[in-house]
Amino acid sequence: MSARVLVVDDILPNVKLLEAKLSAEYFDVLTASNGPDALRICASGAADIVLLDVMMPGMDGFEVCRRLKASGHTSHIPVVIVTALDQPSDRLKGLDAGADDFLTKPIDDTALFARVRSLARLKAMTDELRNRALASRDLGIADPIAAAASDNGERASILIVDDRPSSSDRIRGALEKVHKVELESDPQRALIRAAESAHELIIVSLDLQGFDGLRLCTQLRSLERTRNSAVLMVGEGEDRMRILRGLELGVHDFLVRPVDRNELLARVKTQVKRKRYADRLRDGVQSSIEMAVTDQLTGLHNRRYLETHFSGLFDESAMRARDLAVLMLDIDKFKLVNDTYGHDAGDEVLREFARRVKDATRIVDVVARMGGEEIVVVLPETSLGSAAAVAERIRHHVQSEPFGIRGGTAQISVTVSIGVASRRAGDQSPAQMMKRADEALYKAKGEGRNRVIAAAA
Ligand code: GH3
Ligand code: MG
Ligand code: MG
Repeated sequence: MSARVLVVDDILPNVKLLEAKLSAEYFDVLTASNGPDALRICASGAADIVLLDVMMPGMDGFEVCRRLKASGHTSHIPVVIVTALDQPSDRLKGLDAGADDFLTKPIDDTALFARVRSLARLKAMTDELRNRALASRDLGIADPIAAAASDNGERASILIVDDRPSSSDRIRGALEKVHKVELESDPQRALIRAAESAHELIIVSLDLQGFDGLRLCTQLRSLERTRNSAVLMVGEGEDRMRILRGLELGVHDFLVRPVDRNELLARVKTQVKRKRYADRLRDGVQSSIEMAVTDQLTGLHNRRYLETHFSGLFDESAMRARDLAVLMLDIDKFKLVNDTYGHDAGDEVLREFARRVKDATRIVDVVARMGGEEIVVVLPETSLGSAAAVAERIRHHVQSEPFGIRGGTAQISVTVSIGVASRRAGDQSPAQMMKRADEALYKAKGEGRNRVIAAAA
């Protein structure tokens, strides 16, 4: 993976040094010598990671970071603040501005590469989610990216895995005011608990008695149930090599003891926000896929869904010489409902109609609204006779009880006519079945409505 790293520093030799180091590790390097240029490059989508100097004339690094994190176009780009100042207050200022991490000059190469690689991996994953979310937005559905970027990172469910009370009490005490915190001292039980409740963030001590905390981190990262949780390591100064290894292995972030309370809060917040951002994108994609095949009024499948699935079922039944039937349903004199009681009452009837049809069919049947007051039901492994019986059951189910309208304050009787057809050996496509069902429906209307007519097998 060749990530594009943007190095921002007003002092040319600093830029050149970082550029040389990163290029030697096969990263693509872009450079900028001031904040506004950096913002422009990021807005154009050319950078995957930003290494940002703090002290620059005009706009300082904190401000650049704040602006990047405030825009929906750039908030997902990881920012590492690079500074000569190693004061906790500066680290905090950077984290508050939304920075994903801090590196202090002179820069330690191993730490730099571990960080950049781990952030590049995260960025690649986020990009994929964003692209899918953007694609679904193009289907005309609400913007999941804007919604995802707006979380405050609070009230997270957090599991602390630490067997030293002196350390865990401190961490727990700091987090408890803002988050929902659980503690587990046994790493084996921690893995089970994490898999059961899918915590948003898991904090793992690297100094557990007789157990390598790093092992737990990698298990958490690879298990299906926990792989979307954020994982944060807590170690001692001498755990440095294991911490870097952890970053290589996909652990999201780390803290070194003694844990600074504010830095802990800031890093936890960043990780929770990042995790929720990814979750929202994932959910957004999922729900927009569902929306694309769902009829909004009734919750039934829509025509688009029917077209794909009917032809799949048709091919399968032809290949295996199995039965396949289709029903075409149309409410009788529905225009009269609209004209008499209004369009909203008509909608209520449609929803109730859909519910009754759904109730009278099986899970494997495809029930789709074709538009208007027409519903099509595809019945796999069903003969013409059985399909006609299902149709009769639906017809009865609609007629037998009046429909509530105006929130249940009034009632009207509704009837439905249904045409039935089954697949014939010579049929080439579902359209031929649909045509026969449609003709049967037309006949049912002509013969007085509220009836089922089946086309010849
Ligand atoms: P028939 O027994 O011959 O089927 O008579 P009909 O009145 O049901 O026939 P027609 O197909 O002419 O009328 C269908 C009506 O359905 C016309 C349209 O206004 C109404 N309609 C279509 N979609 C919707 C909708 O989403 N909501 C409501 N309330 N009405 C709809
Ligand atoms: Mg009708
Ligand atoms: Mg109609």
